[in-house]
Amino acid sequence: MFSWLVRAFPWVFNRSIFWKFSFIVVVCIFPIFFFSVFCSFRGISWVTCGDYFLAVTVISFIFILWQAIALYYMVIKPLKRVVSHLRRFIENQEEVLKSDIRLQKYYAKDEIGDLVDVVNDLLDSFRMLHIFKHTIENDEDSGTIYERLGWVLKELVGFDEFIIYEVSNSQNSMRIVYSTPPDVAYNADKLFDASRCRARRTGEIVSSITFPGICKYFAYSGEKCHFCIPMMSGSNCVGVVELHLPMFNEGCSCDRRTIETKLNIAKIYIDEATPVIEAKRYAESLKEQAFKDTLTGLYNRRFLEAIIDNLAAQVLRRETVLGILMCDLDFFKSVNDKYGHDAGDLVLKQTAQVIKDSVRKSDIVVRFGGEEFLVLLVDVEKNKAVDVAEKIRKNIEIYDFKIPQGIVKRTISIGVSEFPTDADAIWEAIKYADVALYKAKEFGRNRVVRFVPEFWQKEEY
Ligand code: GH3
Ligand code: MG
Ligand code: MG
Repeated sequence: MFSWLVRAFPWVFNRSIFWKFSFIVVVCIFPIFFFSVFCSFRGISWVTCGDYFLAVTVISFIFILWQAIALYYMVIKPLKRVVSHLRRFIENQEEVLKSDIRLQKYYAKDEIGDLVDVVNDLLDSFRMLHIFKHTIENDEDSGTIYERLGWVLKELVGFDEFIIYEVSNSQNSMRIVYSTPPDVAYNADKLFDASRCRARRTGEIVSSITFPGICKYFAYSGEKCHFCIPMMSGSNCVGVVELHLPMFNEGCSCDRRTIETKLNIAKIYIDEATPVIEAKRYAESLKEQAFKDTLTGLYNRRFLEAIIDNLAAQVLRRETVLGILMCDLDFFKSVNDKYGHDAGDLVLKQTAQVIKDSVRKSDIVVRFGGEEFLVLLVDVEKNKAVDVAEKIRKNIEIYDFKIPQGIVKRTISIGVSEFPTDADAIWEAIKYADVALYKAKEFGRNRVVRFVPEFWQKEEY
């Protein structure tokens, strides 16, 4: 029976404040208006019509009171709440950002309801940005931050096709660090020559929404346009985010304003992430410099010392085997003597590459000394380390070392031990590989020798 009332109630409440005010005011004015019309018809003056006048005064007073109460609850109280919340946010941003405080939902969908929703959205977006910033600062490396930024752009902001590039300014190259979908089309030219990327070169946003065909290296398909945001650290561009968007042509159902808002939000997150990524990359490169040999790019002895105890503990815990190969080029000194130190350096660099290419990515190759290389074979099958050593020996034997004077050939001797098969202590096992290497040299070089306990007569070394 009252279904029309139930339907009308939210309809009335979801109108603009303007109509609500008008209704209240009209209701208040109406008795006075009615009374004055009534009096003028009867030809009597207001003042002489005592009873009527009293009744109208009381009714008017009740309506004015109702108007005041309605005004207070419908407008003033909710507005005060918004103001005090915003003031609290300004005065104590940290506390509000850390907590999950939101404005109480306003029941009506009028202008105040909209304002409450907007303030709540604003607080949510500030809070999310704050959480993002805090999280990436505690992330371990730049790779994790790229992943997180990718997640935010995809899940939170709502882009479903984009690529994040990391720029190496020293090598003038770019590499893809995140892409969604993983097989998204891109032009590989700029990977090898970063100056081809307009956003990287100019440090400015490059948008084919504004100027179609602006970048000659973007593969325009007719369906997508692009919006490239450079990641600027000071005056350096350290990365680029290439967002692919639907074309804004006639008949396109996409809402331009929504996309512009999304682009602005994306830019805010990118700008927040850039200095943190740059700091992590700087720390990573410092760490790498300290742990890497500059000539060969292999890990150095300091790295070995830093990780070896942990690695040995893992091997023991997992009850696996660590293969240890101590490799030493045969008669390397003669390369230096005959062709010079620079040619010797080239041979060392190429040796490092051959060894790296002969083992698994998870294995650890260390430049142990001048022309000595230590290879740690992680989780190798028992007694199978010699097979890997033999593979390295053969690959070196057949390799043509390129030096300015032409091609040189070299061989390598390798001593093999296994941990914990041969020794309970890791450094002892490394020592045994060295002992086996000494034997390989003694037995005529260009060979692999597996350590056996008979080799170890302490007084010899
Ligand atoms: P063997 O078969 O007994 O190992 O003979 P070898 O000549 O390889 O060994 P030796 O220890 O006599 O010589 C090693 C040489 O490696 C001596 C040293 O000058 C050279 N060397 C060490 N580090 C470097 C380097 O970084 N660059 C170059 N070019 N040579 C190096
Ligand atoms: Mg040597
Ligand atoms: Mg040597």
